Amino acid sequence: MEIKVCKFGGTSCADSRVIEKVAEIIKSQESRKYVVVSAPGKRYSADEKITDMLYALAAEAAENGECANFYKITERYTEIVNGLGIKEDIFPVLEEIKTTIEKTADKDYAASRGEFLNAMIFAKYLGFEFVDAAEIIKFNDNGTLNEDVTYQLCRKRLSKVKNAVIPGFYGSYANGKIKTFSRGGSDITGAIIARAVNASVYENWTDVNGFMTADPRIVKNPTIIDELSYRELRELAYMGATVLHPESIFPVRIARIPINVKNTFEPENKGTMIVPFEKRTDTNKIITGVAGRKGFTIITLEKSMMNGELGFASKILSVLEKYKVSFEHMPTGIDTLSLVIDNNELKGKLDEIVKEIEAAVKPDHVEITPDIALIATVGHGMARKIGTASKIFKTLYDADVNIRMIDQGSSEMNIIVGVEEKDYEKSIKAIYAGLLSE
Ligand code: ADP
Ligand code: ASP
Ligand code: MG
Repeated sequence: MEIKVCKFGGTSCADSRVIEKVAEIIKSQESRKYVVVSAPGKRYSADEKITDMLYALAAEAAENGECANFYKITERYTEIVNGLGIKEDIFPVLEEIKTTIEKTADKDYAASRGEFLNAMIFAKYLGFEFVDAAEIIKFNDNGTLNEDVTYQLCRKRLSKVKNAVIPGFYGSYANGKIKTFSRGGSDITGAIIARAVNASVYENWTDVNGFMTADPRIVKNPTIIDELSYRELRELAYMGATVLHPESIFPVRIARIPINVKNTFEPENKGTMIVPFEKRTDTNKIITGVAGRKGFTIITLEKSMMNGELGFASKILSVLEKYKVSFEHMPTGIDTLSLVIDNNELKGKLDEIVKEIEAAVKPDHVEITPDIALIATVGHGMARKIGTASKIFKTLYDADVNIRMIDQGSSEMNIIVGVEEKDYEKSIKAIYAGLLSE
């Protein structure tokens, strides 16, 4: 029988009214056997996400051993349980969670309880079994996913249950200690479960009608992308199209399981299908979408005759390795080399790194450009279409944007430009208008 795995994001679980809608979606198809849920998200734009509140509680506990604001968590879940009319006493569970956060101030444990409680409530409401992610999603001591053990445990546990609700976002180490994925990680849990049960499709239910050609918070009503390859998804998600976690693609790609991004609030809309490259039906498209992120720094090194100097780049990379800093791009010219690095990687280390690089390669000149945003224009068709890059540059020139860096990904399906952060929104709008709006 066909099996679908459905993941519902934060907005799709925000209150009891939405959860009723979600239950209708699940019950409308028998194949929707396994459900992964996020923690309740925002009900309106100024609202707080449960996960953010839980991180704040862990910080509060670390500071003074108390969780005075825990009542906000209790209020949200009480509304949900009462609104759904479930007869389940959640107070002892809430009390235990509060005491544990106060005692341990453990961030991962605290954050994971949003999904844990929500999955318990969902399971009760749907009449499905609750399967705790801590039992079946396992991490190695170095924090990476222990794939072998995870898939083995997931298969063993889920093969015995007809229907289950599994909390997203977390798992545990071998000793049982809770560990979360990075933010937005419920998408990864859903993908792991989809692969484990060999689902025919991984449905990712969110609050928009699919993956769009640009961030809808910047461009008004961007076009919905009907179909996307795994690689295009990876490039766009990594570069900032946060609708899916960039790591959620790996489990399903290996198993060739399509992802269907769908809207909980318009379930009849077909959404976006993410499929293997060779299964695309629309192969004429040149550009698929644009995405970007702020928060990068460029370190540019200039030295005459750099190109002839053996080991120049390798000396620089050794310095980065020593400081455990990874870089995003390294465009080079005849006498120049630039490193584009995420600010989070450089925190508190920039001065020391620059000093060591100077000592290692003795450049004539070093320039640091902070506050850079990267923008990726992505599409398989680029490789065979002449002039895409020049069109992007002309569009940005017309919009009065100064391009600080250019890099064409080696995959030939990605052109990346670095612009000043103040020009970020303007650049996305310009590229959308110039290359993506029909
Ligand atoms: P969920 O809580 O369901 O996981 P997210 O907030 O993580 O939802 O992701 C959905 C949001 O991603 C949308 O509401 C939208 O604002 C944002 N977004 C950013 N870029 C894109 C894009 N290219 N296409 C669609 N949505 C995008
Ligand atoms: N609740 C977590 C977060 O807000 C995980 C998720 O929603 O995917 O990041
Ligand atoms: Mg998300």
